[in-house]
Amino acid sequence: MEKQEYPAGIKWTRQRKDVYQILLEATEPLSAVQIYQRLEDSAGQPGYAVSTIYRLLAAVEEKNLLIKSSWMGEDTLVYELNRGEHTHYAVCLGCHKRVPLQQCPFAHMHPQLPQTQGDFEITGHKLELYGYCKECKEKLL
Ligand SMILES: [Zn+2]
Ligand SMILES: [Zn+2]
Repeated sequence: MEKQEYPAGIKWTRQRKDVYQILLEATEPLSAVQIYQRLEDSAGQPGYAVSTIYRLLAAVEEKNLLIKSSWMGEDTLVYELNRGEHTHYAVCLGCHKRVPLQQCPFAHMHPQLPQTQGDFEITGHKLELYGYCKECKEKLL
């Protein structure tokens, strides 16, 4: 098996590594249940309880290695690795399909804050677009 480098500052137990690995391979944010299912699917893994996954995620998140968010209109929290870069999504209101944006709209833009907030230091942002995908749009016609 290929040797994987893990970020410093955290004790990498076998279980934490497993969860980290799943998130590393994921192409979109995953919920704890989805992570659980992927662990179950990969051969040779010991059984995990979903509550264990939440505990593992909390430990990794504490080290700022994860970004936790929720999709619009859904209570489920999803997790992705903090890779330093990020992806925004357009969400279909019909089928809940998520389409990644090709680039961050803020990449080349400096948001204007009121003069009175001149010292405000922006450290991040969230953005979610929503609408209807091609298939759902056709169904609406
Ligand atoms: Zn749709
Ligand atoms: Zn962005």
